[in-house]
Amino acid sequence: MKPAKTSPVQIARRGLMLVISSPSGAGKSTIARTLLGIDKNIGLSVSVTTRPRRPSEVEGVHYHFKSVREFERLRDSDALLEWAEVHGNFYGTPREPVEQAMAEGRDMLFDIDWQGAQQLQEKMSADVVSIFVLPPTMTELQSRLHRRAEDSEEVIQTRLANSRAEIAHWREYDYVIVNDDLDTAFDAVQSIVKAERLRRDRRHGMFDFVRGLLEETPSL
Ligand code: 5GP
Repeated sequence: MKPAKTSPVQIARRGLMLVISSPSGAGKSTIARTLLGIDKNIGLSVSVTTRPRRPSEVEGVHYHFKSVREFERLRDSDALLEWAEVHGNFYGTPREPVEQAMAEGRDMLFDIDWQGAQQLQEKMSADVVSIFVLPPTMTELQSRLHRRAEDSEEVIQTRLANSRAEIAHWREYDYVIVNDDLDTAFDAVQSIVKAERLRRDRRHGMFDFVRGLLEETPSL
């Protein structure tokens, strides 16, 4: 006789706020995109920015593109969970979608810089898991920025100059990955997500589950 089929055990838990930072060109956005493509239980926090849209970018998918005036209005009405000036433009995380996701126990990914990571750590440290992605060498970082060929030479030079300042914050993160090989780096990110989802302190449903286990066979 086949054993009775049981449905998979689901244990309620809080949503994860997965923060990924790196200097421009270290591969963070590729890692983020791959993760979102594979793991349907994680959503992207779409930031607002005053940076001009790149040809490959889509409004509302990659960013919500705003004027400086619109950005300031959002910031001043407390609609942003965090914000920062990066490479001469403003970037910020809309508050409402994040609060909704956390309340519903859904995970969210944040592709933000160290200033944003710091602000989220301060406000919601229990829910934040942060990863810093380093390039294997500075030469490789430079050639990746050129290969991307979506920014002007002037913008590339600003980003390279700022990369040292970004890298200086690596110790503020929970995990650090060197992106020498994309598959290996991506595996590491997936392992982090898997393990963090299993943390006892995130799984508030575990209390009821264990109580149920102990009550199931009182004579044992
Ligand atoms: P890019 O212009 O290349 O899309 O992004 C430039 C930098 O701004 C990246 O390091 C990116 O992670 C960061 N960034 C993007 N969105 C946000 C945000 O909402 N807040 C903060 N603090 N940084 C952001």
